[in-house]
Amino acid sequence: MKFKDYIQRLRTYYGPPRKPRVTRAWEIILYENVAYLVDDQRRDEVWAELKKAVGVTPRKILEAPPAKVAAVIARGGMQPAHRADKLRRAAVIAMDTFDGDVDSALGWPLKTLRRGLKKFPGIGDPGADKILMLTRTAPVLSLDSSGLRVLLRLGYGSSEGGYAAQYASVQEAIAPELPKDYDALIAAHQLLRQHGQTLCSRNAPECEQCPLARWCPSAGRAAVEA
Ligand code: SF4
Repeated sequence: MKFKDYIQRLRTYYGPPRKPRVTRAWEIILYENVAYLVDDQRRDEVWAELKKAVGVTPRKILEAPPAKVAAVIARGGMQPAHRADKLRRAAVIAMDTFDGDVDSALGWPLKTLRRGLKKFPGIGDPGADKILMLTRTAPVLSLDSSGLRVLLRLGYGSSEGGYAAQYASVQEAIAPELPKDYDALIAAHQLLRQHGQTLCSRNAPECEQCPLARWCPSAGRAAVEA
């Protein structure tokens, strides 16, 4: 089985993937930091509340009292004051490094852009890849922890080392098979994420239900290795 076949089977099983909620660079950064360890629906709700009560431009974030931002995003999981501080730090970086307009930097040379994006809280290589993919700036496959786990279990890359090493090894292994068009990359990201959050969960994968089980080298033993 090839990567595209896995994705096609996931699409057949789960149906059309969810559309990303935000697709502009600055909004992706804010959306990543607005909540922590909550499901997509809750994150969407908190995002909508922030948009309505405070606004989501760097200037609006900086103008709002930190306690107000923390109260508005309180439903987004643990440590709302800490998350509010991250939003504020992100806004400062947006103003200082990007003159208040992160999206205007998408035409920068890729290396410089990546370096700039990774200055933001919560944005490492996976986050930078997500921004590049969702803004259709570079045809990369962003993987969150769920999608990464699925691909490791399917035999891409190596689970040796920490998260960064695993991410890099999967990216290297998957590169020759990646589609070039953005719609396919975004759909793959969403479907792998959905699979990793449901059937291919970290501690209790339901391999007997999985549409990929026939071709998966980890079928039936992934929970033991998790
Ligand atoms: S067979 Fe099991 S380990 Fe393999 S992808 Fe499916 S759920 Fe994950």
